[in-house]
Amino acid sequence: MTPPPLPRLPSQTKIVATLGPASSSPEALRALFEAGADVFRLNFSHGAHEDHRQRHAMIRALEKESGKPIAVLADLQGPKLRVGTFANGGIALKAGQKFRLDLSKEPGDATRVGLPHPEIFSALTPEAELLMDDGKVRLRVEKCGKDFADAVVEAGTALSDRKGVNVPGVILPLSALTPKDRTDLEVALDMGADWIALSFVQRPEDVTEARKLIGGKAALLAKIEKPSAVQHLQKIVEAADGLMVARGDLGVEMPPEDVPPAQKRIVLEARVQGKPVIVATQMLESMISAPTPTRAEASDVATAVYDGADAVMLSAETATGSYAAEAVAMMDRIISRAEADGAYRAQMSAWNPPLQHTGADAITAAARQVADTLEAAAIVTFTTSGFTTERAARERPHAPVLCLTAREQTARRLALSYGVYPVFTQDATSFAEMEELSCRVAAAHGFARKGDHLVITAGVPFGTPGSTNVLRVARMP
Ligand code: PGA
Ligand code: MN
Repeated sequence: MTPPPLPRLPSQTKIVATLGPASSSPEALRALFEAGADVFRLNFSHGAHEDHRQRHAMIRALEKESGKPIAVLADLQGPKLRVGTFANGGIALKAGQKFRLDLSKEPGDATRVGLPHPEIFSALTPEAELLMDDGKVRLRVEKCGKDFADAVVEAGTALSDRKGVNVPGVILPLSALTPKDRTDLEVALDMGADWIALSFVQRPEDVTEARKLIGGKAALLAKIEKPSAVQHLQKIVEAADGLMVARGDLGVEMPPEDVPPAQKRIVLEARVQGKPVIVATQMLESMISAPTPTRAEASDVATAVYDGADAVMLSAETATGSYAAEAVAMMDRIISRAEADGAYRAQMSAWNPPLQHTGADAITAAARQVADTLEAAAIVTFTTSGFTTERAARERPHAPVLCLTAREQTARRLALSYGVYPVFTQDATSFAEMEELSCRVAAAHGFARKGDHLVITAGVPFGTPGSTNVLRVARMP
């Protein structure tokens, strides 16, 4: 008699859902989770500390109730530059007209407005381009000094209070952490966020500086949204624990046609180095106000999956949209469909990322091969820091990667990684216990049943971080 089919396994590509007013009740949060969200993002560009604390507490309550580790990603605003205010709230602009930016606190008028960032003026040069309001207004600098810039309007028809400013071609002498970010970071660490996202990273040093402040209390995700970050990509990926292709600002800072190749490069570099990477922004944008996405949006999500991203992200769709849970469910359907495509599988298994000369890589690469040969139900990784599990995820195996760890922090963090199913357990102390625990967890979570193979990796002596040196095949009793 053939046994009943296993319940559908979770998708391997993860979903990050941003929380906001549309998703701040326990019911709304649970709806996102049940629709397939693995990671929740708290966006510190909006909302009060109290809002974030409440959302965090709700996530932890949901986690406890469901028994499934959930990652919380605290996203810091970073040095988002903005113009000051106008006497009348805004002005009209015409291409070809002159316009001045300065450090004056006086409200702006038709000829000038304040730009309260001295660092910009010291870094500007004639010919530099200034973009405002998500690129809707473009100015070209003609003359500048330490407290002003005279520019010509090249495009745009209006500018109003506090609109954002991007300076694409110039490395600004700005820390990636503003005073607001430092306060927000303290709050995020204090409440127990698992990932801290750093916005507008320009150089690898920005990541190093933030890492010192985080002090190991959370993992660090670098948002790639500046052309200078794309230029220093390899070093930034080395310095960070994870990456985000932040296409919103990236698409302002570089022409739209440059974003897709940049996305491919960032995802590939992250995959080569084995750091989780999120593709973000406007993925199902029209679902903010409609129950179905455009064909192009469905294709965009699928493209990120085919590229082998660890996760895809929803922003306003789940934070303020009218169809928050529907957007997550739609994303999950698009992911599952792409992952079921033979061409996708062939692509994932054809890729053999260069290995490091370490026990972890030797064992995990072998584990993938053994799992393929035996059509194993799962690869089970015992880990303390999460490193071995990340290396296993880097292989993009067909089999799900169970992450068994005695560290709650590790279990939560790994919720972002491709194909990883984290389970918080006690450490194994012997081979017998390792097998017994693996089989018990795989059965309890619906990954395997009697007769199935499991491929297990661990480090002996048990519980020693960084010691992965064992590969074992077990048969489900
Ligand atoms: P943001 O980052 O939503 O915080 O701006 C994402 C992006 O820029 O794409
Ligand atoms: Mn951004």
